[in-house]
Amino acid sequence: MKIAVLPGDGIGTEIVAEAVKVLNALDMKFEMETALVGGAAYDAHGHPLPESTLKLAMQSDAVLFGAVGDWKYDTLDRPLRPEQAILGLRKNLGLFANFRPAICYKELVNASSLKPELIAGLDILIIRELTGDIYFGQPRGRRVSPDGAFAGAEEAFDTMRYTRPEVERIARVAFEAARKRSKRVTSVDKANVLETFQFWKDIVAEVHKDYPDIALDHMYVDNAAMQLVKEPKRFDVVVTGNMFGDILSDEASMLTGSIGMLPSASLNASRQGLYEPSHGSAPDISGKGVANPLATILSAAMMLRFSLNQEEAAVRIENAVKKVLAQGLRTGDIYSEGATRVGTREMGEAVVKAL
Ligand code: NAD
Repeated sequence: MKIAVLPGDGIGTEIVAEAVKVLNALDMKFEMETALVGGAAYDAHGHPLPESTLKLAMQSDAVLFGAVGDWKYDTLDRPLRPEQAILGLRKNLGLFANFRPAICYKELVNASSLKPELIAGLDILIIRELTGDIYFGQPRGRRVSPDGAFAGAEEAFDTMRYTRPEVERIARVAFEAARKRSKRVTSVDKANVLETFQFWKDIVAEVHKDYPDIALDHMYVDNAAMQLVKEPKRFDVVVTGNMFGDILSDEASMLTGSIGMLPSASLNASRQGLYEPSHGSAPDISGKGVANPLATILSAAMMLRFSLNQEEAAVRIENAVKKVLAQGLRTGDIYSEGATRVGTREMGEAVVKAL
């Protein structure tokens, strides 16, 4: 079981160190190798995803990733910015399915801005397609508008597109995931307006015929955005395209109160994956030892489950996290009165102890 450890920038190094401690405490045989990525790699090698880092990732069963980015890189040319490292890893590893669970732990029910009864027991899984859609469709660019009311004016455009195989494989991933949960899938589209998403909807319905044990419903993205805050527990597995998934998964993550608690996984067809917290590098708290490492620790649990086939170890980590929460330990982002405030390292060590 070979793991590429890519801590990245900002709080990335602090939180990944705690996840590595937790993995080591499992007493299993991992081969872990660390490499630079993001701004740290740019500073050392002039590129956010150096050849050596990419090679390590490609030769590993899984990548444990911290976060990348800092405001100081915002003036760099786009291909050299830290965030490009993630896009490069996704592309080279063929990571097409992004899993973003949003789970509300009962101890943190008051951290949400929604009423406790709406989110207590919440456990939804958003599956976002990662390689297609308007984010990658060509052509795109700026030009002089060739027609319409403002012909001759400057304009910008992007292209929304999906191929049949892309939709089929993400639909299968969603139905398979639902089989291990409550057997319900909601496919989110905008079929009423967009040709691309009528195509999406038709194909998801076709693939569904192979999964008669799973209940499927279709929902427009605007309604899904509303339902997520109105009645989030109506959802179980949600599958959608790249752009809608980007937005809805962030919305869903906030239902639980803290982005510091939310893991994520991006998988390819051979279940090789990149595992990272849903948050960024948090430059505002970097180096202070206060970041919440639990999203990264829970990402390591997802890595054990999905890429390394170690379900039992994954559950051990998840139970250890529940235990430290039940003990009342909280980092600043999830702190509420009466709890014990701890830093990044103390939280990591408490999880190790609970294991
Ligand atoms: P962010 O997620 O880094 O931070 C948003 C807010 O949440 C901040 O106030 C931060 O302190 C807090 N926060 C985030 N993670 C936390 C944790 N584990 N514990 C406690 N508090 C936490 O988003 P941002 O501020 O918009 O972006 C900062 C940098 O991160 C930017 O350069 C951005 O491009 C980058 N970014 C990277 C990724 C990634 O690596 N996958 C994702 C999003 C943003």
